[in-house]
Amino acid sequence: MLSKRIQTLSSSLTIAITTLAQELKAEGKDILSFSAGEPDFDTPEVIKNAAKDALDAGKTKYTAVPGVPELLSAVAGKLKRDNNLDYEPKMIQTNNGAKHSLFNLIQALVDEGDEVIIPAPYWVTYPEQVEYSGGVSVIIETDDKAGFKITPEQLKAAITPKTKILMLNTPSNPTGAIYSRKELEELAEVLKGTNIIVISDEMYEKLVYGGEEFTATASISEDMFQRTITVNGLSKAAAMTGWRFGYLATPNMELISVLNKLQSQSTSNINSITQAAAIPGLDGTIDTVVEEMREAFEARCNEATELFNKIDGLSVVKPNGAFYLFVNIKEISTDSMQFCKDLLSEQGVAVVPGIGFGAEGYFRFSFATDIETIREGIRRIEAFVKRQK
Ligand code: PMP
Ligand code: GLU
Repeated sequence: MLSKRIQTLSSSLTIAITTLAQELKAEGKDILSFSAGEPDFDTPEVIKNAAKDALDAGKTKYTAVPGVPELLSAVAGKLKRDNNLDYEPKMIQTNNGAKHSLFNLIQALVDEGDEVIIPAPYWVTYPEQVEYSGGVSVIIETDDKAGFKITPEQLKAAITPKTKILMLNTPSNPTGAIYSRKELEELAEVLKGTNIIVISDEMYEKLVYGGEEFTATASISEDMFQRTITVNGLSKAAAMTGWRFGYLATPNMELISVLNKLQSQSTSNINSITQAAAIPGLDGTIDTVVEEMREAFEARCNEATELFNKIDGLSVVKPNGAFYLFVNIKEISTDSMQFCKDLLSEQGVAVVPGIGFGAEGYFRFSFATDIETIREGIRRIEAFVKRQK
């Protein structure tokens, strides 16, 4: 009955573990969850008010498929203001979360057998979306010693005549690694003269620590602007995960046109109230609130990194961005799935196995939760690790 395609698709491991932790909690178990990639903060007041105003103004009808003109202008304004990128509003499509932006892109670009280069550790969704469209994921391995970043040599070696796309995620989920301008320039040099498209997932752009600077991939050069599709959204920066707002931008009008065709036959426009609410999330109105959240994340990041590195048998490279620690457990276990299952059943602590991100010997710990819970979670992990040694 079912299509062959759907039978090979796996559920999102991050969502599966988060759901399991919620279920165990609802049963009355003492569970601390560090699995969700979701800020614990509430959505900024100004965004909620924009949604209320939109409801009162009756903005409850279908809109144009890519989004209302004011929204597309707000996205273009954001990309100019923050990233110095010259996208016109017509080069933008808004989507039901950045996951949907990526899904549309992969469906529109990847044919059977096309290769998509994905640096590991990667966000769980990338290879699943690629393989669902018949594409082949070509994984480039990196580890903590390499700062979890690919080198130009690795990229060169991974390219074949079938390479269609390079997926970049900066800052990275799950490692927090950020590609510097120089590193991006070196990767760009390898791509020069090829037809390879870059999808740059910049979802964690606003969550950058230790004075590190974020560089948008499309801003490297005119060549990179032309070949890159920028993907971003407000789920993380504006604590809007449930609202479902993401977007993509490309100067390739043929691509935009087919993406709009695809979306017109699937979800149509995104929620009209979310569209109105997103505008103050893009035009600079929430900059101060975002900075306050960033500072809170940075303080947690610093403390959690220090606490983990005091545990005998565990180590973690301090991330430069996002809100995850990718903790090395290789001295304790090479089976991250088993490690995480045992940790959950013995200590009631939910974290995500590294294997889900294509990297065995690690787990992902989200510090997007309050510091007391983080301290208690790490205490429990320490107790668990002591017993494993
Ligand atoms: N990209 C990355 C790297 C992510 O971690 C996520 C998950 N939150 C997304 C995209 C998708 O975000 P959204 O909730 O907007 O679909
Ligand atoms: N992206 C988040 C995470 O990595 C949310 C869950 C998901 O969409 O996979 O946990």
